[in-house]
Amino acid sequence: MADIVYTFENHVYLNITNSCPCRCEFCIRKNGSGVGDAQTLWFSGHNPSFEEIKAEINAFDFGKYADEIIFCGYGEPTCAYDNLIRTAKYLKEKLPNCRLRLNTNGLSDLLNKKPTAKEICDNLDIISISLNAPTSEKYEALCHPSFKEKAFPAILKFAEECKKYGVSVKFSLVDVISAEDIAECQRLADSMGIPLRVREYTAD
Ligand code: SF4
Repeated sequence: MADIVYTFENHVYLNITNSCPCRCEFCIRKNGSGVGDAQTLWFSGHNPSFEEIKAEINAFDFGKYADEIIFCGYGEPTCAYDNLIRTAKYLKEKLPNCRLRLNTNGLSDLLNKKPTAKEICDNLDIISISLNAPTSEKYEALCHPSFKEKAFPAILKFAEECKKYGVSVKFSLVDVISAEDIAECQRLADSMGIPLRVREYTAD
């Protein structure tokens, strides 16, 4: 079994699935089997059940990390949608003052074949959405989503809806694209009233 709860740079993360509909050129999963104190973030055989996630949460001392927990890991958390929502509810019971953040590729509605922003925003506090590119064509070329041209519009719609539901929404991108494309992403994010964070690419 891979690590479900792990820490990296003073933050605690939850790894709940290895599934993902993208193949981003910059994905850190290509570079190694673990991040931070995780031995491996690859599950062998099956993604974890809710009971397995819950057991790992109960075994972890959140102590100094109890102000924010981030759903991230080696896969897209909304691929494990039911476990994501159940785990968020469980954490809110267990650590009611803890902020819950979702790092997502924004493709939850397509993955789950239903609108998901409301339920996600009802259960999590911060939604960080990977924008990655300024246009659908450039997104497809960089992230290779299985949903092809439907992906980028779905990400923008998901972001708009999360904003409407009143949570903290942020876009992010990795600085593997041109300065012109970063500027275009910034204009797009500004036009939607959503902050954009440019992350430095690291191979670790
Ligand atoms: S969406 Fe995230 S997990 Fe999926 S391929 Fe891209 S960077 Fe990797």
